[in-house]
Amino acid sequence: MTDFTKTRAAFHLPEGMTYLDGNSLGPMPRAAADRVATMMQDEWSDMLITGWNRAGWYVQPRKVGDRIARLIGAGDGQVVMGDTLSIKVFQALSAALALRPDRRVILSDSGNFPSDLYVAEGIARALGATLRVVEPEAVEAAITPDLAVLMLTEVDYRTGRRHDMPALTARAHEAGALALWDLAHSAGAVDVNLLGADADFAVGCTYKYLNGGPGAPAFIWTHPRHAEAAQPILQGWMGHAAPFAFDQEYRPAAGIERMRVGTPPVIALTALEAALDIWDQVDMKALRARSIELTEAFIVGVEAECPDLVLNSPRDPARRGSQVGFRHPQGYAVMQALIAEGVVGDFRAPDVLRFGFAPLYNDLEDVERAVAVLARILRDGSWDRPEYHAKSAVT
Ligand SMILES: *Cc1c(COP(=O)(O)O)cnc(C)c1O
Repeated sequence: MTDFTKTRAAFHLPEGMTYLDGNSLGPMPRAAADRVATMMQDEWSDMLITGWNRAGWYVQPRKVGDRIARLIGAGDGQVVMGDTLSIKVFQALSAALALRPDRRVILSDSGNFPSDLYVAEGIARALGATLRVVEPEAVEAAITPDLAVLMLTEVDYRTGRRHDMPALTARAHEAGALALWDLAHSAGAVDVNLLGADADFAVGCTYKYLNGGPGAPAFIWTHPRHAEAAQPILQGWMGHAAPFAFDQEYRPAAGIERMRVGTPPVIALTALEAALDIWDQVDMKALRARSIELTEAFIVGVEAECPDLVLNSPRDPARRGSQVGFRHPQGYAVMQALIAEGVVGDFRAPDVLRFGFAPLYNDLEDVERAVAVLARILRDGSWDRPEYHAKSAVT
């Protein structure tokens, strides 16, 4: 069992705010500030360079990786932290392509996050491969015998649609291809089971549902069957078999360690550890059940109270992650008005209001308040004030 009242109390949630944007940036664990301050005062300040050994900074990317592994259905020693997600997409996709040297086709879908598609496009150009992008519903039929890598984000950042990871992975394997999954909107949001799905590679970020803080490092997972064969293209010294031998030539480290690139972000990893102390208390089946309870209640409430909004997420919870989107022709202004009223979601072009539900700290009261405020501003037209139409750089 998981005590979600206790996990909620472990976060700093600003007074008067209903925060439904944890799918973009999770809130701060209360313990994070002290944790980081202690690391700075006891480790960086006095240990200086010896901190790499004495404070365990060097092994931290693996130790933190082991704690993430439990949340995504992976095993110990299979996950390593570092860099940003875009770089980890590059790392995993190039390694997967190299494992299928006689094939040059990458398949993804139009629901993928642009950064993943941009990275794939760059890799395709550099390595003489072809990137095929189809509609999410057409992915299965597009898995053909020339495919090298199926690269998908499990939960669509705009619609919340969740792909069937075991089924699509099995289809890719039948076609002789490998499956790479991006868990940006899955890790900490749904019950991911990488080993159960028999996936080949996975990547994800830790600043969304995992609450590691802005710029928190990404993670990468390789199935053990590929761990000793995968060849990263970003061959950095921290992924070398013996970084401190300073050899002229690269030799990959054992297993997942080879996916490291350069010096790890120790301060950011320390903040993430504070979030993982909360995650250690969470059962992922209970998390999933609570997520479904919250998203169902929100959909029912909005559809009853806000006739102008059109659901932009799958109605079947089994096909949905932990976020819900609604469309409105003036979605941007509606979201700005909501935020001004203390209900924070976000807007994704062209017309989607996006609401993330994070079971660790959102509850049914948040759902009720969000529905009530949304219904009120749509009814009284207050969303249409000029100030709500002005755009800022980050939406
Ligand atoms: C959030 C997100 C990213 C962001 O990548 P960064 O390198 O961390 O900025 C990439 N891909 C997906 C699918 C995302 O949801």
